[in-house]
Amino acid sequence: MDKVYLGVDIGGTAVKLGLVDTHGRVLARAEESVSFDGYKTPILDTVTGAAARFLAGQSITPAGVGVSATGQIDSVQGVVAGTCGSLPGWDDAPIRTTLEKALSLPVTVANDANCMVLGEVWVGAARGCTDVIGITIGTGVGGGILTGGRLLEGARGLGGEIGHYRTHVRHGMACTCGAVGCWERYASTTALVRAAQARNPAWNSGRAVFAAAEAGDREVQLLLDDWIEEIAQGLAGLVHIFNPQRILVGGGVSAQTDLLIRPLADKVQASVMPAFRQGLDLRAAELHNDAGLVGAVYYLRQHKPELV
Ligand SMILES: [Zn+2]
Repeated sequence: MDKVYLGVDIGGTAVKLGLVDTHGRVLARAEESVSFDGYKTPILDTVTGAAARFLAGQSITPAGVGVSATGQIDSVQGVVAGTCGSLPGWDDAPIRTTLEKALSLPVTVANDANCMVLGEVWVGAARGCTDVIGITIGTGVGGGILTGGRLLEGARGLGGEIGHYRTHVRHGMACTCGAVGCWERYASTTALVRAAQARNPAWNSGRAVFAAAEAGDREVQLLLDDWIEEIAQGLAGLVHIFNPQRILVGGGVSAQTDLLIRPLADKVQASVMPAFRQGLDLRAAELHNDAGLVGAVYYLRQHKPELV
């Protein structure tokens, strides 16, 4: 029988679990809150319990566990290396050793945005691509870079944190990371809503802003255009460094084909040198909720070939 793997996607509000087969298909799923008691129960305790319960209910034992985790993840050690203080008790959480001991299975751990890109490369919108820039637009901007078929991880596995690339150093906005002018201060959904809400308190969510733009509100359309320009210029800079064949945009706003994906693709194309434009396309990510756990399993299989 074919092997299966446990994919675990740890976010700030929930942990998603899935049994994934050798083709990247999710055979069974579960989800549990990690914030149910305001993080009084450490996230890692909740995750460990959820994984054990989930596996107890399955008839097959997986070959290994691939974890996708929020925060700066040291994938060499399998620990949380930093969070900017955004998640109580998550800093330094020893994910790999804890899960290996609790489940008696080999475990790998990687950053969630990096896993998103790998999931999309395996079975999603970047299937077969070797050079991909993936961004997830939401509260912040997450990123993952695939270059020459390999995930760009850097020395500790922290690489690809492109939301904190500095795009506005002079008079820039303060970022949660302690620096000033990070790209995500300008390119996240939070940034769009912040700008819109300053004009009209009713524009208090991405949904409200896009609805107003769709209804033809000129003021919102101009704000949206400015925001897309910020995203496009950040991407254009990255295109010149990495020469990708595909840019993937994930996050809730990526469902906005006419109001975001198409104009963003046009702006990126218009902002890069002609040679970089050839063979480059930008599209929405496809896997949505499954991207993290499927990508985590892809990472596991890449790093532990004996489990394939
Ligand atoms: Zn920052």
